[in-house]
Amino acid sequence: MATTISNTPEKINIKDLIVTQYPLASLCTYQTGGKAEFLAMPANLEQLRTLLEYSRRNQLPITILGGGSNVLISDDGVPGLVILTKNLCSYHVRGTLFCARSGLPLETAINASIESSLSGLETLGGLPGTIGGAVWGNASTHGLQLSHLIEWVDYLTPEGEIARIHRDDDRFAYKRSPFMGTQHIIYEVALRLIPNKNTSEARLRKEQSRKERMDSGQFDHPSAGCVFKNPRGKPAGQLIDEAGIKGLSVGGAQISSWHGNFIINTDGNATSRDILELSERARRAVLDRFGIELEREIVLIGRW
Ligand SMILES: Cc1cc2nc3c(=O)[nH]c(=O)nc-3n(C[C@H](O)[C@H](O)[C@H](O)COP(=O)(O)OP(=O)(O)OC[C@H]3O[C@@H](n4cnc5c(N)ncnc54)[C@H](O)[C@@H]3O)c2cc1C
Repeated sequence: MATTISNTPEKINIKDLIVTQYPLASLCTYQTGGKAEFLAMPANLEQLRTLLEYSRRNQLPITILGGGSNVLISDDGVPGLVILTKNLCSYHVRGTLFCARSGLPLETAINASIESSLSGLETLGGLPGTIGGAVWGNASTHGLQLSHLIEWVDYLTPEGEIARIHRDDDRFAYKRSPFMGTQHIIYEVALRLIPNKNTSEARLRKEQSRKERMDSGQFDHPSAGCVFKNPRGKPAGQLIDEAGIKGLSVGGAQISSWHGNFIINTDGNATSRDILELSERARRAVLDRFGIELEREIVLIGRW
């Protein structure tokens, strides 16, 4: 399928791309977890393909990390190669299409689209993470799912082939995307936005969304946002509150007092194991009290 991605021939030394035993806690918002066996931060398609080829040859499993704001990284670390997308961060505008590489921070994408007189992303203001992570999890807030804005997504298969999915892919749904359960790497995303010359009004709306998040206390402690997806009916946070376990702690992890679906790393000393154990207790409490099985939203990464 035709894509807009061009190839840049480049001589790549794999040793320059990879570091070993890299501590991952600083790369995720829980600030917990062990080391990556290998870590790389490719800056273009050729480097990414070289890494895929190297991993295939050496039978290294691959884990993709964007902003690390929806993951729980094992205390025992991550075997194989962790690919951090932060250097895949260029973007351009074509008419009403905002096209971004997957590692672009969502916040930068929102600001850049507003400055390009394009609207649509403002309600996501303050949402941490990258465009790639937001597509993978179909990030949503205030009724807006990112998939509503997607025109196409270009991704790499484990063999290094580029392929494209389009906006009408029916595998996008609430907190679901076609990328879950696959080894595909989201490379570039095109969002169809709306022309809006009133940039100051758009900036204000984005700032309001960001401020709402800040004022609600979401960023007072390390967390990864909501631990569980909302089931039909009641929000997961309300079910956890009504199960009577608000404020419950395991080690340094606590169910937040202001939002039952947030587990926080209270004093920075929680382990990933504490967080997982606490989330299991919350899941069991809701199951016992209401007979509802909560589905985890945060993604477990590494050796568990
Ligand atoms: C305080 C706080 C509030 C939050 N509020 C919300 C909210 O309102 N709504 C919401 O939806 N989420 C929310 N989140 C969760 C999180 O911010 C989003 O899910 C975000 O989109 C994740 O992006 P990321 O880049 O951090 O992904 P990561 O956490 O790095 O990765 C998440 C998953 O995506 C995969 N992935 C990432 N990039 C790629 C890629 N390029 N190719 C293939 N796979 C990839 C990873 O392998 C992993 O499985 C919140 C988080 C925090 C900390």
